Amino acid sequence: MCGIVAYIGPRQAYPIILKGLKRLEYRGYDSAGVALLNSGLKVYKKKGKVADLEETLVGKDLHATIGIGHTRWATHGEPSDRNAHPHVSANGKLSMIHNGIIENYGQLKQELENKGYTFSSDTDTEILLKFIEDIQINNKSGLEEAVRIALKRVVGAYVIVIIDEDNPDTLIAARKGSPLVIGIGKGEHFLASDATPIIEYTKEVVYVNDYELAIIKSDELILKNLGNEKVTPFIQKLDLELAAIEKGGYDHFMLKEIFEQPDTIFDCLRGRLDAEAGTITMAGVQNHIEQFKNANRIIIIACGTSWHAGLIAEYIFEELCRTPVEVEYASEFRYRNPVIHKGDVIIAISQSGETADTIVAIEKAKEHGAFIFGVVNAVGSSIARISHAGAYTHAGPEIGVASTKAFTGQLVVLMMIALKVAIEKKTIDQKRYLHLLNELQELPDKITLMLREKDAIRAVANKYKDATDSLYLGRGYNFPVALEGALKLKEISYIHAEGYPAAEMKHGPIALVQETLPVVFVATKDSYHEKIVSNIQEIKARKGKVIAVITAGDEIITKMADDVISVPEADEIVAPVLSTIPMQLLAYYIGVAKGYDVDKPRNLAKSVTVE
Ligand code: GLU
Repeated sequence: MCGIVAYIGPRQAYPIILKGLKRLEYRGYDSAGVALLNSGLKVYKKKGKVADLEETLVGKDLHATIGIGHTRWATHGEPSDRNAHPHVSANGKLSMIHNGIIENYGQLKQELENKGYTFSSDTDTEILLKFIEDIQINNKSGLEEAVRIALKRVVGAYVIVIIDEDNPDTLIAARKGSPLVIGIGKGEHFLASDATPIIEYTKEVVYVNDYELAIIKSDELILKNLGNEKVTPFIQKLDLELAAIEKGGYDHFMLKEIFEQPDTIFDCLRGRLDAEAGTITMAGVQNHIEQFKNANRIIIIACGTSWHAGLIAEYIFEELCRTPVEVEYASEFRYRNPVIHKGDVIIAISQSGETADTIVAIEKAKEHGAFIFGVVNAVGSSIARISHAGAYTHAGPEIGVASTKAFTGQLVVLMMIALKVAIEKKTIDQKRYLHLLNELQELPDKITLMLREKDAIRAVANKYKDATDSLYLGRGYNFPVALEGALKLKEISYIHAEGYPAAEMKHGPIALVQETLPVVFVATKDSYHEKIVSNIQEIKARKGKVIAVITAGDEIITKMADDVISVPEADEIVAPVLSTIPMQLLAYYIGVAKGYDVDKPRNLAKSVTVE
């Protein structure tokens, strides 16, 4: 996790770094710091958000044209001033920021302690820095060489960026497993965890690959592998506008991103789905259609919200393509000894494309000869690059930590893949296929209608905001929507919420039902409608409070429920895209009503680049 920014060039580094860190705060926000070089090294760091750091630096001399900055998501050592990055070497000359985890830090620490080193933080980062310093001193090598030697010993994941008081015209950076982008300006370079701190200055970027080391001066960028051989940087043009990452008049990024969904779904469909012609154009699927058609099995690997998208896809692929599907938590899959066959299709889903567990799970599946298809939002991210093929969700940058528009984008991409494979495999008839294409095409308008319910949802949120526990129930395609609803509520409002298949409720959770327990039913009209009506009765009979998400005009449930939220009518296969939106708004309004920072919920971070 964590966000890193660095600058070298003719401009003042501090304002660029500060602004960049604010853009990257979604990646971690428990402490922040900067190190600047201007006739000596100056390091400032502070527990809390970037704004807290900024406040403490008012009035300080921050002039420098080279610097590094970090916003942390603690893995080793509590959030505190002393554990904040940048860290400093024993001789006070080197300063380093780090994103990731040094897994063998204990062993390295022991070696350093034996040599008399002491540590002023609890971080793995300080150990790596002092390990580099030690090599530099003992081998009498330059910093670049010392970094290379040190990294060969490191087990774990990292992006590191180092500045050196003795070489004030050079930044050294390296990556393995965590993301690093270098922006190329005129006589200047910008480094960051993603492109958002960079776009304002340049659109030319290089995504650094694993096991690469970058030696960066104002007017020179040299990339090398750990074997000290030069690598030609692959310069790409960024397709990202500044407005896309600013709040645009909304109170929070999360709200902005919820309201962007008519556009993001439109963008996701654009150029792919043509309902009139009856076609879906997705090169990544088309070019590998035989793999999809002949797959004995599809395995979906993902974490968190993306895992819920995978569960919905399981129902859809099995229904439309008649291919067995397994949905796996990437973190479990990677450490099991999973049975993977050559003909298996792996679909890896990740908003950031940097999810550490998913990346390792992909690598494992690749070793077994599986075909990897990535469903990713962040263009150019690691998963996009290591997959054999893939499809972007085109939801644009998602800044709010709780995923909203990226999730619905994932659903739509997965639905299109399933339809494309089903029509090629002839497991769907033409009439149903065309009907579902139309249903997908109508989604942006239906989402717009759905969003008009926001005041009704806010009223429900205010009514239940003081609950301490809640249950989310759904059946069929709406069961994973219930799980996602419960996760959103936990993330944003810190209210304990559990998602269950509505029928499963009788096997345990029903014991929790009492007058004070709100139970959210995702109960839009589908093949299970009558069954879920019975489940609602069961809750009402025990005096639970029922909040039902229903298809507009559903009189039966309206009469039974305490509160209803209506969504436009839709085929049950595409309905989860619509029924998810009330889940997002409910969590958002409850979080706001409770006064929480919904864009940066406690303990969370956006892009989980640690395992
Ligand atoms: N492991 C380092 C720490 O705990 C870096 C964490 C991060 O990526 O923010 O400080």
